[in-house]
Amino acid sequence: IESSNSQHQQLAEELIERCLPFSGKSFRIGITGVPGVGKSTFIEALGTYLIEEKNKKVAVLAIDPSSTKTKGSILGDKTRMNKLSVNDNAFIRPSPSSGALGGVAKATRETIILCEAAGYDTILIETVGVGQSETEVKSMVDFFLLLMLAGAGDELQGIKRGIMEIADVLIINKADGSNIDSANLAQQEYKNAIHLFPPNDNGWLPKVGSCSSTENKGISDTWEIIESYFKLTQSNNSFYTNRKLQAKFWLENTINNSIKELFYANKKIQTKIQELEMMVMSGVISPFKAARELLSIFKK
Ligand code: GDP
Repeated sequence: IESSNSQHQQLAEELIERCLPFSGKSFRIGITGVPGVGKSTFIEALGTYLIEEKNKKVAVLAIDPSSTKTKGSILGDKTRMNKLSVNDNAFIRPSPSSGALGGVAKATRETIILCEAAGYDTILIETVGVGQSETEVKSMVDFFLLLMLAGAGDELQGIKRGIMEIADVLIINKADGSNIDSANLAQQEYKNAIHLFPPNDNGWLPKVGSCSSTENKGISDTWEIIESYFKLTQSNNSFYTNRKLQAKFWLENTINNSIKELFYANKKIQTKIQELEMMVMSGVISPFKAARELLSIFKK
C-alpha cells in the first residue's frame, strides 16, 4: 500500500476493501512530542505493559513529516524499541518515507485498517511535535497523548495553542531522579493552565499526568486515563460519531488530493501555468483571474 505504482495501488485498494469489515475494533492512539522527549522509550514501556498485563496486541506506526523532505528521519528506524520489536504481539512500522505528508498520512490510515484486520487491538501512532503532522494524525486517531518534559520552555516543546487543543492528555515524561520535583511542579502548572480551556464537545476534560518511561512508573496510571476516555466516549457515543466524521474527512481529503493531482498532471495546464505565474508575479493579471483562466482550460 505504500507503493506509488498504479497497479500496486489498485491491488492495495482491493485489499483494503476486503479488510474493512474486519477493521475498526481497536483503540487508535496518537502520541506526539519533541525529539528527545522519550516517545520511543514511552511506547516501548506502554506497549510492553499492554501486551504483558492487558493481553493486548499492539501495532506501532509512525508519521514523520521530516522524512518526506529529507531522506533522514527524526523518528529514526525504530530499532530503539528493542523489547517491543521482538515481541510476537507487537508490530512496528516506521514512517513511509516517500511522497508528500498527505501521501504518508493516507498510507498510515490504510495501514491502520490492515493492522486491525490482522487482530491488533491497540494502534499507537507516533509523530514528531511540529504542528503540521498532528492535524493529520488527529484525523485518524481516537485519542491524542502529548508527551512533555518539565522545565523545558513551552516554545521549545511546540506547545502552541493548537497542539494543546488537540491533546486529550499531557504526560510529563522523565519524572525520575532529580527531575521528580520539577515534574510535579510542571504537572500542577499544566493542570492550572488546562482548566482555562473549555471542555471538549465530547465531554472529556483533558488530563495531566507524569511518568518515567525508563523506570516504568506511571505507565499503568497513564493507561487508566486513556481507558477512562474510551469508557466515557463510547458511553456517550462521541467515539463513534468521531469515527464517522473522520471517514467523511478522509473521503473529502482523498477527493481534494485526487483533483489536485489531475489538475497539475494536465498537459494543457502544464504549458499554460508558467506563463500565467509570470504574469501574476509581475502584476499584469490578478491571481484570481489567472486561476479562473486555468480552471476554465481544465474544465474544457
Ligand atoms: P524520542 O526522540 O522522543 O523518541 O526520545 P527517546 O525515546 O529516543 O528518548 C530520548 C532519550 O531520553 C534517551 O536517551 C532515553 O533513554 C531518555 N529517556 C526516555 N524516557 C526517559 C525517562 O522516563 N527518564 C529518563 N531519565 N530518561 C528517559
